[in-house]
Amino acid sequence: MRKCTVVAEVPHREVLFAILAAHRRVTSADLARVPNGLRCELVLAHEGEHADHVWDWDHRPSHALWARWTADETPRLESVPWCEAAHPSADEACTLYGDHGGAHAWELSDPEYDAFVRRLCAQAPEWEVLLRARPG
Ligand SMILES: [Zn+2]
Ligand SMILES: [Zn+2]
Repeated sequence: MRKCTVVAEVPHREVLFAILAAHRRVTSADLARVPNGLRCELVLAHEGEHADHVWDWDHRPSHALWARWTADETPRLESVPWCEAAHPSADEACTLYGDHGGAHAWELSDPEYDAFVRRLCAQAPEWEVLLRARPG
């Protein structure tokens, strides 16, 4: 199944307030960890809001900051628990949030990542084994 990949702008001000509220400070290293843009991580043609991971909490690793949005709204931020599903055969956890609908992360392919791998493999076939190992 393919990913949705609908994009949106990061609500930078709200992200900074959320990090400040949780960590009481924001460092330049923190700023470098804030994504440049949002890109939906859910399954293609999912119901409801789009969603993208924004920030991992140092103080609360069971939760993460996610942005959710619709075509008509600016993204809103919410701290939500991780999906607890584990891959049935591999030592791999789902990288989506707890109540996400549709497929788990390991069932999804990213068309842009796949195209990137195809381009690289065409240039350097010896890298194929390495490149086909998908990031988590
Ligand atoms: Zn989406
Ligand atoms: Zn999941």
